[in-house]
Amino acid sequence: MFTPVTGRSVIVTGGTKGIGKGIAKVFADAGGKVLIVGRDPLVAEAAAVDLSKHGTVTWTAANICAEEDCERVARIAVEQHGGVDVLCANAGIFPEAPLATITAEDIDEVLATNLKGTILSVRACLSELARSEHGRVIVTSSITGPITGFPGWSHYAASKAGQVGFVRTAAIELAGHGITINAILPGNIVTEGLTGLGDDYRRQMEASIPMKRLGSVDDVGNVALFLATDEAGYITGQTIVVDGGQVLPESLQAIPAG
Ligand code: NAP
Repeated sequence: MFTPVTGRSVIVTGGTKGIGKGIAKVFADAGGKVLIVGRDPLVAEAAAVDLSKHGTVTWTAANICAEEDCERVARIAVEQHGGVDVLCANAGIFPEAPLATITAEDIDEVLATNLKGTILSVRACLSELARSEHGRVIVTSSITGPITGFPGWSHYAASKAGQVGFVRTAAIELAGHGITINAILPGNIVTEGLTGLGDDYRRQMEASIPMKRLGSVDDVGNVALFLATDEAGYITGQTIVVDGGQVLPESLQAIPAG
């Protein structure tokens, strides 16, 4: 049995939809006091109302690309929930942009959100995480970039591999403050963002997963919760793949039919 995380203050960036909303739900169910963050205030408020069935969930609208927004998010967590014990740096975007036609703006937008936004979110919470006796950072990276590739998402893959590079060095800097930082590498998880990629994409992905199903947001949320427990306190700078075995087959022929 793991030590409960009851009463701990948890920030989930991108907690208003998809994987982040799933992470927020799991922490709320576990008794955490959760602050969810997204740019759209209407979506954020509706998500917080929905998640309130599970426990204490508040919201704020903020853009993680902006330093002042990240700092404001940390202040709100302190005001509303008494500090920051866990930061789930999850917000991210994945627009398609083939390499032959990718623009400088496409690259800037993805790197600013997924990579710079992650680093700024972590920096803004550092003093509060250090004050906590259970400081934890959990970054949502991806299999795309650190392990696999997918045509059309080279800038995204670079941003996600960049997050893992960040986690490894940050882990060394944060260890002395009692803070751990790890990354979850999801495969294909059913979310609003993924649904936007279309049915063909979904069918293609299901065929490439040994477990023959896409992941659920709970599959990722439960791993985030584990990484936040006291019992996971000696794990830092690591990556955990949550993908139903998707990265394992050498080819589609390696996956048994049915
Ligand atoms: P999603 O359903 O599109 O949700 C993305 C969340 O991030 C939303 O809450 C969105 O809210 C927020 N967000 C985006 N840009 C933001 C910004 N600049 N500032 C603040 N919030 C921002 O996406 P998802 O599928 O759950 O993906 C979440 C994370 O998991 C991403 O980092 C993604 O790369 C990673 N991931 C997803 C999958 C998958 O299969 N779904 C697989 C591997 C990795 P607003 O739009 O209102 O800002």
